[in-house]
Amino acid sequence: MTERETVVPRILIAECMQEISSFNPLPSQYENFRIEEGEAMLAQRGLNTAIGGALAVFAARGVEVVPAISARAGSAGLLSAPGWARLRAQFIAAVERCAEGVDGVYLSLHGAMGADGNLDPEGTLLEATRGIVGSRTPIVISLDLHGIASRRMMRVIDGFALSWPYPPIDFADTGERAARFLLRLRSGAPSPAIVRVVISALVRRDDLITKTGCYGDLLLGCRRLEAEGKVLAAGIMIGNPFTDVPELCSQELLASAAPDEACTLALSLSLSLSRHGSGRCAIAFTGSMRLLTMRSYRRRRWAGPSCSRTLRMRPHRVRRGI
Ligand SMILES: [Zn+2]
Repeated sequence: MTERETVVPRILIAECMQEISSFNPLPSQYENFRIEEGEAMLAQRGLNTAIGGALAVFAARGVEVVPAISARAGSAGLLSAPGWARLRAQFIAAVERCAEGVDGVYLSLHGAMGADGNLDPEGTLLEATRGIVGSRTPIVISLDLHGIASRRMMRVIDGFALSWPYPPIDFADTGERAARFLLRLRSGAPSPAIVRVVISALVRRDDLITKTGCYGDLLLGCRRLEAEGKVLAAGIMIGNPFTDVPELCSQELLASAAPDEACTLALSLSLSLSRHGSGRCAIAFTGSMRLLTMRSYRRRRWAGPSCSRTLRMRPHRVRRGI
C-alpha cells in the first residue's frame, strides 16, 4: 500500500439538478431550487438519491466527505438569467470554500438544465470546478439518462456514471457507481479515455421502457460491458426532447483505459440501435452518427486519429412518426 493510499481521502461532493422544458413559457427561478449547503447535504444519507448512494460508498471506504452544496429543482421552464446568475455564483462560491486539499470531486448532475443566456449550465459549473481544483484532481459526475452531456462537459471530467433504467428508479445506484469510479481513480488508476457516440435519433414512447423497449436492449449491452470489466463505465443518454439545446441528441458514453477497444465496442452497440426496427422501434435518424473520443481535460488534446473518426450513415427511415 502506498503512502498516498494510507491517508484518508477527502472527497468534495456537490449537486445541481434540474430538467427543464424549453417550451414551457413560464421561466423557472432561483426559488424553484431546494438548496442545502455544507453538513445539511448529509441529510441525503440513506435516501435513494445519487448523493445518498455515493455517501454510502464513501462511508464504507472510510472517505472523509466534504459537502459543498446541493441544489435541486423539479421540472420547469428555462431558468431565468437572474436565477442562473445567483445559483451559479452560490454553487461556485461553495466549491471554492470547500476545495482546499481535496483528493477528488463528485458532482451529482442531471444534465438537462438550461438557462436564459446559457444552454449548457452544467458545462459552466464543471469548468469552474475544474478551474478551482486544478487539473490533477479527478472529477467524476453522475447524469440522468435524460441529460445532454455536452462536449464541454466531457472535456472536463475524468469519469461518469449514468442512470440506467427507465422509468428511473436507481438514483442511489448511480451515485454508488460514480463514487466507486472516483475511488478507483484516486487509488492510482490512469484517467480513462471517454468515448462518446452521438446518435442523431430520439427514442420515444414505450420503446423507452427499459424492460421491454429497444432502448433496454442497448442498455443491457452497456451493463454487461461494465459488469464484465470491459469498460469502466457505459450507458446511453436518450436526451430530453423538451430541453431544446444545440447538443440535444441520443448518445452513448463509454469510459475505458483502452480507447481503441472502447471505440469498437461503442460503435457496435450504436450500430445495433441503427439496425433496430421493423416497425418496433420509434426512432428517427436525422443525420450522421458521429464517433468521438475525448481525452481527459488535463491532456488537452483529442485522441489519436484511430479513435477519432466520423461514421457517415444515410439518414434512416422515420418510424411511426415522432
Ligand atoms: Zn429525466
